[in-house]
Amino acid sequence: MNDAALDLLRTTFGHPDFRGEQAAIIDCLVKGDDALVLMPTGGGKSLCYQLPAMLREGCGIVVSPLIALMQDQVEALLQLGVRAAYLNSTLDAATAADVERRLLDGELDLLYVAPERLLSGRCMNLIDRAHAGGGIALFAIDEAHCVSQWGHDFRREYRELTVLHERWPDVPRIALTATADEPTRLEIAERLALEDARQFVSSFDRPNIRYRVAQKDGSGQRALLDFLAGHRGESGIVYAFSRKRVEKTAEQLCEAGVNALAYHAGMPAEVRAANQRRFLQEDGIVMVATIAFGMGIDKPDVRFVAHVDLPKSVEGYYQETGRAGRDGQPAEAWLNYGLGDVVNLSMLIKQGDASEERKLLELRKLDALLGYCESTQCRRQALLGWFAEEHPGNCGNCDNCLQPPESWDGTEVARKALSCVFRTGQRFGAGHVIDVLRGVPTDKVAQHGHEKLSTWGIGTHLDTRQWSSVFRQLVASGLLAANHERHGALYLTSKAGPVLKGEQTLRLRRDAPKPAGRRGRTGS
Ligand code: ADP
Ligand code: ZN
Repeated sequence: MNDAALDLLRTTFGHPDFRGEQAAIIDCLVKGDDALVLMPTGGGKSLCYQLPAMLREGCGIVVSPLIALMQDQVEALLQLGVRAAYLNSTLDAATAADVERRLLDGELDLLYVAPERLLSGRCMNLIDRAHAGGGIALFAIDEAHCVSQWGHDFRREYRELTVLHERWPDVPRIALTATADEPTRLEIAERLALEDARQFVSSFDRPNIRYRVAQKDGSGQRALLDFLAGHRGESGIVYAFSRKRVEKTAEQLCEAGVNALAYHAGMPAEVRAANQRRFLQEDGIVMVATIAFGMGIDKPDVRFVAHVDLPKSVEGYYQETGRAGRDGQPAEAWLNYGLGDVVNLSMLIKQGDASEERKLLELRKLDALLGYCESTQCRRQALLGWFAEEHPGNCGNCDNCLQPPESWDGTEVARKALSCVFRTGQRFGAGHVIDVLRGVPTDKVAQHGHEKLSTWGIGTHLDTRQWSSVFRQLVASGLLAANHERHGALYLTSKAGPVLKGEQTLRLRRDAPKPAGRRGRTGS
C-alpha cells in the first residue's frame, strides 16, 4: 500500500489504519483507474475519494445530491485542515466567484458540487479551465444509486453525468453507494459508463442486529408494548406508515408509560427539531416516526428499530433497520406486519399518480418484502441475498434460526409452480401462472392457449392467496426471480433445478397462507 496515503490517514484524519477495502480503493484511484464502490452506511466511503483527491495532482470534484450533507462534509474537512469548498445554490454570487477563483488558482483539494450545478455550461467551462491548468484529480459520484430508476431516490441529472467521462476521459471516476441490490448495481454501472470500473463490494452484514418478524394478531399495540418491554430504558425507533399512525402510536405509548416522542414531516419544524435533539441527547427515548426520520442521523446506541407497519421495500427496510446498533453492541430489528398492510400499501400505489411502469415496480418491491416476511429461511441470508451477497444461513441471530417456524413440505407444490412458470415460457407474472395452475379460464389463458398445457389446473387444492404466498416464498428463497425489463415476468434461476429434479426438498411457512375470507381485519 501507498505509504503517502497511510501517512495522510494518520496525520490528517487521525485514524490508525484503513478499514475494509479502503486501501485497495484508494490505490485504484491513485493509479488513475475507475472504481464502483458499494459499502453500507457508516462503512467509510468518504475517505475513498477524499484521500486520492489529496494525493493526486489537482482538485477532486465530488458530485453530491444533498446540500445539507455537502455542507457538513466540507465543514468537517476544513476543521481537519483540508482545502475543501462547495458550489451550490445556497452561495451568493461573490462567494461562488471566490470558490471558482480558488479552484483555478490550485488552492483546492476537494470541491463538492450539486449535480444540476455541475451540468451547467458555466461549470463545465470552469472545469475545462481547471483541467487545462492544475488538473482534475478525480470525479467522485456520491449516492450513485440516484442514477437508477429502480431505486427510490432517482435524480434525472444523474443520468447526464456520463458527460464527465466523455469530456475528460483521462480523469478517473469513482461512484459510491450504500444501496446495493443487483438491479441498482447493474444500472449504475451501465448508466454511468462504469462497466469496466473495478467493483468493490463490502459485506452488508450487520451481525449484531437480530431480525424478527411477527404477524399482526389484531391486538392493536399489545405486540409492540410486549416488544418494548424487552427494551426498557433503551433508545430506539418505531417506524409507522403514516403521520396519523405515528401520532396515534406515540400517544398510546405515552399512555402506557413509554418515554415516546413523535416525528413526521407534517409537524412544525421547531417541534420536529426539538424532538430530534432530545432523541440524540437523552437516553431511553423511543422515537415514533415516519421514514422522514433517520437520514443522516448518527446515534450509535440505537438499540432497536421496530416497524409497526410493512415498509415499502427490502432496500428501504434494510436501510431503516441499519440505524440500530451502529456501536456494534447487540440490537434488534422487529417487524410487525399484517395482510391488511399489504392491501393498504398496494391500494396507495395503484391510486397514486406515478406511471404504470413505476406502479408495477413498486408493487413488485412490496411483493418481495412480503416474501421475506413469509420465508422460513434465515433472515440474514435472505436480506443479504437481496443485495447479491452470499451468506451460509443459520446465523443464530434471527427468529427463523432461533425458533424455526412451523413449516410444511412444499416440494411438490413448488415443483408444480416452477414447471408452470417454465411451461408458460417464463414470460408472465405470478397472477397469470396461478390462473393456469388453478385452471381459471381467463382471456389471457385463451389467447396463449394455456389451457392445453400439462400444468393446466394441477393446483386447484390451493386458493389464489395460498398460491401467491408460495410464489412470494419461491422468489424470496431465490428459486424464481422477476425480470425487471419484462414487466416482472418470473423466470427460473439456477437454484430451481435441484427442486424441479427432486434432488432437493423445500419447506414452506405454515402460518403464512391464510385461506381467503376467514381473515380478521388486521393492521391500520
Ligand atoms: P459512509 O459515507 O460510508 O456512510 P463515512 O465516510 O461518513 O461513511 O464514515 C463513517 C465513519 O467512519 C466516520 O465517522 C469516519 O470518520 C469513520 N471512519 C472512516 N474510515 C475510518 C478508518 N479507516 N478508521 C476509523 N474510522 C473511520
Ligand atoms: Zn438466521
